[in-house]
Order: sequence, then structure tokens, then C-alpha cells
Amino acid sequence: MRRQIRSKNKKDERLPVDASKLNMGNTYSSAPDFYYDIEFDCQDCGKQETWSARQQKWWYEDAGGYFFATAVRCRACREKERQRKQQARVNAGHEPKA
Ligand SMILES: [Zn+2]
Repeated sequence: MRRQIRSKNKKDERLPVDASKLNMGNTYSSAPDFYYDIEFDCQDCGKQETWSARQQKWWYEDAGGYFFATAVRCRACREKERQRKQQARVNAGHEPKA
């Protein structure tokens, strides 16, 4: 899977990090100053997706995501994985069947 250079006419977005909202766990490393768009290949289907600076800011600061967790699946595979886990909980009897 070859990484592609971003096209020049698309402006790279960067957003300032609000370190006070981060869930850094037990680490003493410091947060970066900015979020940048990250391109990655989905670990399930290999599709290339962009994890935008805006999505990262939401995930880390509003959703309380662990700071060192990064995106590994594309949108479609994340949704599949979410349903698989939900189904597993139902099968295990932890949640009522819908
Ligand atoms: Zn995928």
C-alpha cells in the first residue's frame, strides 16, 4: 500500500491542541501543539482514509479517546466492528436483544 502525497491544491488543515482536555493516561510525555490530517491504510480492507485534524480533535478532546489510540480502520470497517462488538455483547447476554 503506497502512501500518497497530498495534492497541492488541498489546503492542509491544522488545529491547535487543547492539552488540558486530553486523556493522556499515565504518561508524562507532552502533547503536540497541533493536529494534522493523517493518512492511513485500513487494517481490515486496506482502503486509504484520511483521519482529519478536526476528527482527531473531537475524538481526543470531546469523546475522551485515549491520546495514543490512533485510527486503524476506515469508516465502513469501524462501523462493522462496532456492530460485531454490539452483537457479541448481545450473544453473551449482557444486553437485551433489540
Ligand atoms: Zn476498511
